[in-house]
Amino acid sequence: MSVPAAVAKRLAGIPQLTRLEEAPLALHTRFGIGGPVALLCDTNNECAFVRALEIVKSAAVPRVVIGGGTNLIVSDAGFDGVALRYSGSDIKREGPVLRVEAGAVLQDVVDESIGLGLQGIQTMTGIPGYLGGAIYGNAGAYGQSIQQVIECVRFTNGEAQLSVNRDGCRFRYRDSIFKDRKDWIILSADLRLSEGNESELRNKADEIRRIRDAKYPPTMKCAGSIFKNLLVADLPAGVRSQVPGDVVREDKVPSAWFLEQTGAKGMRRGDIQVAMYHANLVYNDGKGTAADLVAVISELKRRVQERFGFELEEEVQYVGFDCATVRV
Ligand SMILES: Cc1cc2nc3c(=O)[nH]c(=O)nc-3n(C[C@H](O)[C@H](O)[C@H](O)COP(=O)(O)OP(=O)(O)OC[C@H]3O[C@@H](n4cnc5c(N)ncnc54)[C@H](O)[C@@H]3O)c2cc1C
Repeated sequence: MSVPAAVAKRLAGIPQLTRLEEAPLALHTRFGIGGPVALLCDTNNECAFVRALEIVKSAAVPRVVIGGGTNLIVSDAGFDGVALRYSGSDIKREGPVLRVEAGAVLQDVVDESIGLGLQGIQTMTGIPGYLGGAIYGNAGAYGQSIQQVIECVRFTNGEAQLSVNRDGCRFRYRDSIFKDRKDWIILSADLRLSEGNESELRNKADEIRRIRDAKYPPTMKCAGSIFKNLLVADLPAGVRSQVPGDVVREDKVPSAWFLEQTGAKGMRRGDIQVAMYHANLVYNDGKGTAADLVAVISELKRRVQERFGFELEEEVQYVGFDCATVRV
């Protein structure tokens, strides 16, 4: 694996950019899985990040932007290119608006908003990762999602710095324009919140945190949900009629329900385990490999396809694979 020497030299000349050659991505993903990346570039300085991205893009070196690595499956072979991480994490308040850099840890943003008595993201407590990743995947939980508070997002396309408002982000359930335009890299965002009561917000967040910590113990090597839930409206009528009413939540059927009907709970391959208590939660129980993880995901998709006639869609993102979803 290598990055052209001329590119490596130009990157080396950027102040405040940390570079690590042959960095094992397993150390940078919550799954603890993934081979080396030829070069990992990290900085909390926006100018340095933008400059690095420009250099890598103009040289057409394969690249991937990572955040906290909490929603990534990296192949065992790793990634033959450059991984860029922006860890700028400033949070500034302007009235009810928080201006936040994309590398801010989402939990810090939630805690800051609660401390300021601002509501809008308190139920997103416990979602790991950075703000940039949360906007990319329109993260959400317990009735709130990031799209509801986004006023505008600043990004770079590797040539210029631009911004889009909430409509321009084309948010949908666990989806945004940034999934279609992978060359648009989020730098910061303005979040418009509203006045709330600090202790009520804190109590609500603490209550959710307790539930979440029981479901996803902080040391669990996983990505949260592997698959997106299903919007009832998108389900074929024949499938919809099989789903008990009390399973539907916020107009969605949990993909866990479909998986459970196929006996997926507790499935295991190597050190990759489907949780005994949640069929859409797959974790690395030791020295799991991406190959086993992908095989489990493929088997889960195959079972649902065979039983219900539709394909589950991954919420997790793949790095170092040829395709964006695993084939059944
Ligand atoms: C235990 C656990 C629980 C979880 N619970 C939830 C939940 O309740 N709700 C939920 O929605 N998610 C949940 N997740 C998934 C995950 O935490 C979110 O998707 C999170 O927002 C990902 O952020 P990240 O920084 O880790 O992104 P990464 O995993 O590093 O990257 C994810 C994707 O975002 C892209 N990306 C990252 N930063 C940028 C950027 N600055 N600009 C453009 N693209 C970027 C990457 O290229 C990649 O495709 C959970 C994960 C875990 C491990």
